[in-house]
Amino acid sequence: MAGARKPVVEVRRSQRRRRTVSAYRDGERVVVLIPDQFSRAEETEWVDRMLARLAAREGRLVRTDHELFGRATRLRGLYLAEYGDQAVPVSVRWVTNQNGRWGSCTPADRTIRISHRIQDMPDWVIDYVLLHELAHLIVPSHNARFWALVGRYPKAERARGYLEGVAAASGTPLTD
Ligand SMILES: [Zn+2]
Repeated sequence: MAGARKPVVEVRRSQRRRRTVSAYRDGERVVVLIPDQFSRAEETEWVDRMLARLAAREGRLVRTDHELFGRATRLRGLYLAEYGDQAVPVSVRWVTNQNGRWGSCTPADRTIRISHRIQDMPDWVIDYVLLHELAHLIVPSHNARFWALVGRYPKAERARGYLEGVAAASGTPLTD
C-alpha cells in the first residue's frame, strides 16, 4: 500500500453546524467543515478522522497521528505484549523538526515523535522505527537488552539497512 503525505487541510468553522462534520477534496487541499463550538482537541481529532475516511474512500492510506498511534498499539501487542503498560506511550506524533533522527522517545513523559521524513517509506520501515522507539520506553539506552527487544521484529536488520542507505544517499548522517 502506498503511503501519502498528510494533505493541506483547510478547516472551516460554521456556527450553523452543531455536531456534524464533513470533508471534501478541493484540488490539492482538503476542506473540513466543523461546528464553531469545537475545541482545538476536537478539531484535531476530527480532521484526522475525516482524512482517514476520505483516504479509505479513495483507497489510500493517510499517515495521520491517529493512524500512527494505532500502529504503535498493534506493534506492542505483537512484540512487547508481556511488558503491558510499560510499553504504552502517552503520545505518538509525526514531527517535522527532527532533522538528525528518524524518531525519538522521551521515557520520562512517555512521548514518541517520528520524523515526517519516513512518512513515505514502506510500512515495514515505519514499523521498525516505531518499534525501536517503543522499546526505548522499556530500555532507554542502546544496550544488549534493548537490541534483543528490537530484534523481535523480523525485518529489523533489513529496515536498518534501508534507513542507512537513505541516509547515505541524502548525505545526512541520520541516527535513531
Ligand atoms: Zn534508539
